[in-house]
Amino acid sequence: MTIKEILKHYEEGSMTTRQIVDGYLEKIHAEDADIGAFVEVFEADARLQADEIDSKRKSGADLGPLAGVPIAIKDNMLLQGKISSGGSRILENYKASYSATVVERLIEAGAIIIGRTNMDEFASGSSTETSQFGVTKNPIDKERIPGGSSGGSAAAVAAGFVPVALGSDTGGSIRQPASLCGVVGFKPTYGAVSRYGLMAMASSLDQIGPMAMNVDDVAEVLRVIGGHDIRDSTSHSEDIALPELAPKSMKGLKIGVPKQFFNDSLGHDLEKSVRDAIAAYVADGAEIVELDLPILESALAMYYVIMPAELSSNLNRYDGLQYGRVAPGDTISEQVKATRTQGFGDEIKRRILLGTFVLSAGYVDAYYKKAVSARQALREQLNEAFSKVDVLMGPTTPTVAWKLGEKFDDPLTMYLADIYTVVANLAGIPALSIPCGDVDGLPVGLQIMGPAGSDAKLLDLGHWYEQL
Ligand code: GLN
Repeated sequence: MTIKEILKHYEEGSMTTRQIVDGYLEKIHAEDADIGAFVEVFEADARLQADEIDSKRKSGADLGPLAGVPIAIKDNMLLQGKISSGGSRILENYKASYSATVVERLIEAGAIIIGRTNMDEFASGSSTETSQFGVTKNPIDKERIPGGSSGGSAAAVAAGFVPVALGSDTGGSIRQPASLCGVVGFKPTYGAVSRYGLMAMASSLDQIGPMAMNVDDVAEVLRVIGGHDIRDSTSHSEDIALPELAPKSMKGLKIGVPKQFFNDSLGHDLEKSVRDAIAAYVADGAEIVELDLPILESALAMYYVIMPAELSSNLNRYDGLQYGRVAPGDTISEQVKATRTQGFGDEIKRRILLGTFVLSAGYVDAYYKKAVSARQALREQLNEAFSKVDVLMGPTTPTVAWKLGEKFDDPLTMYLADIYTVVANLAGIPALSIPCGDVDGLPVGLQIMGPAGSDAKLLDLGHWYEQL
């Protein structure tokens, strides 16, 4: 069910929150053993909360906009008193001492947090295979990966375990799995949603966003979780207005189509679905502006310098002294070493090495600082592009979902999965992925990007296509 459908049941009194929650829990019980979307289901709490909402409703109390709507959160967002592992053994038994702002706002709005979803370790991956808590399968084809790193959230929505889930997106981790599982995923403008209580991966790139079956539900959740938060110094002071999504004509819309989004990495059939989707906007009056933005070719290289640099710094806190797992050692330094050796998986170790290397005294100018100035140039060139066009459109991913294990031992090929998504994180701009067809039954996503603050516009455009 969509959020609207659930709320309608409550309004009409045709179902109680307890019935809705029991229904979803039953489905998760029956099917998640085979999919692996959840690391933990908060069954007892969810039922308790549902009963509370039902009795409040009966008494005529004022209920929030998401009252009785089940939601899943990615395992890197804190929920007070519950384990939050970030997909890592190093935090296997770490219990959150406070809740993330987004989680707090959801609960205040009456949403029921139904469980935490599987993810690549510390959000590092594109297939959810680097999780230390098992694989997640793509519900569309269980021999395939769901994408990553928010693969558990995408799979949970695609399998119908929840109407909506939260993901985090540092280089594409909401949009890429959404695209591969055939659901909607949105990365808001940097600063539009608080990162307080989100485990930091690369702080200048990280953003939380919703994943759902349709654009309306994404907007509905964004209205609740977005807006200024005094506890996140990068949060915008002004809220992004998200009016009701309404149909309008595409006349006058200028769609920038950078040729770098249709390069050799892109599968031919996939390209056709994406071009057909763009053509639908044109048929309703939009205009295509072909763009040549060579700097986009360097985005992935910038990302794989800046992200590991920030990640190596952020993950420094996992030393066995402050949080989570401790491995014994005779000295403090041996203890830290043992904790990290045993607690971190290979991909995390690779990124810490890469990050400390690009930040080291001898190389910081050649790599890190160069990437930072390239990022600035990317921002400027995109800003300039947005003076000529309203939005950019292209594919979310270069390929459809691949087979489990297929790219696991080949990190560089895996990194290529993010080639079109990292752009938005580097530039701090919003980006939406919506389903736009399939290749042999496997979903394809259309990606729409706009200038910072254009979140409402992107959702409107996605909604328009969805209605079509
Ligand atoms: N797949 C990308 C990576 O491995 C993006 C991750 C993310 O957005 N969290 O870095």
